[in-house]
Amino acid sequence: MKLQAIRGMRDLYGEEMAQWQSVERSVREVLSRFGYQEFRTPVLEKVEVFTQTVGEDSDIVEKQMYVFKDQNEETLALRPECTAAFVRAVIEHQLHKVGRPLRFYYYLPMFRYERPQKGRLRQFHQFGAELINDSSPEADAESIVLLDAIYRQLGISEYVVKINNIGTEASRGKYRDALKDFFKDKLSELCPQCQKRFERAPMRILDCKNEACQEVAKDAPVILDYLDPESRAHHERVQHCLKMAGLSFEVDPRIVRGLDYYSQTAFEFQSDLLGAQSALGAGGRYDGLAIRFSEKPIPAVGWALGMERLMIALEAKAALPKSEGKPQYFFAPLGPEAFDVLYGLSLKLKRAGVWAELIYEKDKSLKAQLKQANKSQAPFAVVLGEEEIKKGQAVLRDMGSSSQENIPLNELEAHLLRRTQRAT
Ligand code: AMP
Repeated sequence: MKLQAIRGMRDLYGEEMAQWQSVERSVREVLSRFGYQEFRTPVLEKVEVFTQTVGEDSDIVEKQMYVFKDQNEETLALRPECTAAFVRAVIEHQLHKVGRPLRFYYYLPMFRYERPQKGRLRQFHQFGAELINDSSPEADAESIVLLDAIYRQLGISEYVVKINNIGTEASRGKYRDALKDFFKDKLSELCPQCQKRFERAPMRILDCKNEACQEVAKDAPVILDYLDPESRAHHERVQHCLKMAGLSFEVDPRIVRGLDYYSQTAFEFQSDLLGAQSALGAGGRYDGLAIRFSEKPIPAVGWALGMERLMIALEAKAALPKSEGKPQYFFAPLGPEAFDVLYGLSLKLKRAGVWAELIYEKDKSLKAQLKQANKSQAPFAVVLGEEEIKKGQAVLRDMGSSSQENIPLNELEAHLLRRTQRAT
């Protein structure tokens, strides 16, 4: 049997891996600057963590989860998203009882059984930021500004920040009725999935990606006309906060988010850089999620951004970072004696924090080795042949200018260490 990676799941290596690492570092750096600390949850959860929270007729629960029984007949799911798992962990560790806001981020693989295409995978990676124990509109605005700061740090600004307020769970009843009224004689124009959604979750019709559904939904009543006074004030204040922070945005009443647990603020960062997949990142307030675990509400706001889509956006802009990994020295020994001297030295230097590269193929010509030195982008090469050993000195060659200097062999280690310390 020919073994291949599972459809929609990718291996990462080489230049692409280096680009990912560089982007990951930048994202983590911004998150730390905003005071967010990393949180990791297990890749597996009891399936109820998601079925109880995300919504039974959501795409995720209905058709996208990887679910299986373990040896103990317990039904488990590979994490399709992390917010529900995060709230499970918050409750388990009583983090909602510490009496002050807490900021966490995660960077983890997610699993959804989707039809793979560019920017849509079955294993994909999300950064997410969650701010808990804070119900203020200022927290919502901070969360949005943080996501914006991440994209800008990476040089991306080609997106629109769309925000909305979808009211509290209690106040949404009236809006749901209005939507049902609107859709009830248009059911035959909707996709089969939306026909099912009509009874229990009519708001989700607004989120359907099917063009026919979007066309029908265009004239649907908008939630902002049905907001309770508290949600309206919250919405106004979030907008004011964003303006104070100098962030441009649009209010878009069609941003409702596909999951059950959102309330009040919902937002999406939409970008043309992505082609078919327009959401770069998205999030909202989810105070009510904890209720689905039989807890009191836990004020919380957060977002998730997809790494794969971020990389597509960077590629579209030709702004992918260059890989930074290059050796400081390239060692070019000629002959077995020189090889042994430089072999020992390269490992000693690596242990001391200096990257000195040496190829273990022993009889390469000087020309071939210098060619490799150039390829490795090391700024300096150290050449050592039989002649040099006799004279007790090595040649340090500047790969840029081709100028050379002789270094006494017994001082070579100290010299290279000193030189590196000066350069950093
Ligand atoms: P969601 O959890 O569906 O709200 O998605 C949050 C973000 O994750 C999206 O804006 C995308 O950037 C990314 N995302 C969602 N699903 C996928 C997928 N199947 N493949 C790659 N990225 C995804």
